[in-house]
Amino acid sequence: MRLILSKPYYNKKRVLLLCSEDVNLKEISFLPNALLEVFKTIAFEISEHVFELPSYAYNKHRKQYNSTLLLEYLSIIKPKGYGKYLGIVNVDLYANGLNFVFGEAVLNGEEAVISLHRLRPEFYGKAPDEKLFRSRILKEAVHELGHAFGLTHCKKPECVMHFSNSIIDTDFKSNFPCSSCQIKLFNMIKTGISKNTAYQ
Ligand SMILES: [Zn+2]
Ligand SMILES: [Zn+2]
Repeated sequence: MRLILSKPYYNKKRVLLLCSEDVNLKEISFLPNALLEVFKTIAFEISEHVFELPSYAYNKHRKQYNSTLLLEYLSIIKPKGYGKYLGIVNVDLYANGLNFVFGEAVLNGEEAVISLHRLRPEFYGKAPDEKLFRSRILKEAVHELGHAFGLTHCKKPECVMHFSNSIIDTDFKSNFPCSSCQIKLFNMIKTGISKNTAYQ
C-alpha cells in the first residue's frame, strides 16, 4: 500500500530559512545541509528573498532589536508552504529580562530567530575562525528550531538544548540533542503537540 501524504503534513516537514538584509548569505549557505544531519527527515531551504528589519523592533536606548517582536514580524511576512521558519539576522538581540539573546523561538510554534552578531570570534576580541563561527551558527539554529519543534531546555551541558548563558556554554555543547532529547524530538516531529509560549 502506498502512503499518500496530505499537503499540510508534507509542509510540516519543510523549514524555510529567512535572512534579513544585513546577513551575508555566503556565511549561512552551509546551514541547510548541516541542519539536515541533525533533523534527518526535515528539508531546509534558504529563501532567496531577504527581509528588511522592522524599525519598531529596534530599541535605540539598548541599541538592540527585540527578538520577541522579530518573531511576531516573521509570523506576518512568512510565505506559505512551510512548517517552520528560521529568521537569521546580524543585529544584536535582546528579550525582556535578558541583556542579550542568541536567539528565540515560539515553543512548538512556527517561528524561530537567531542572530549571528555574538557568534563571531571577533565579537570577543579573537581572530576570525570560520569553522568555529559555523559551528556556533549551527548550534544556535538547532537549539531554536529544537524549541520550535517542541523541545524545552535540557540539564545536560553537552546537549544542544542546554541554555547558553554565554558563548562558552555554546562552545561546550554538541551540535546534536542528547539521546533523550533526540527521542522526544523525533516523536514530536512525527506527532506534533499543542502551541506554547516563546522560549530563548
Ligand atoms: Zn538533552
Ligand atoms: Zn533555549
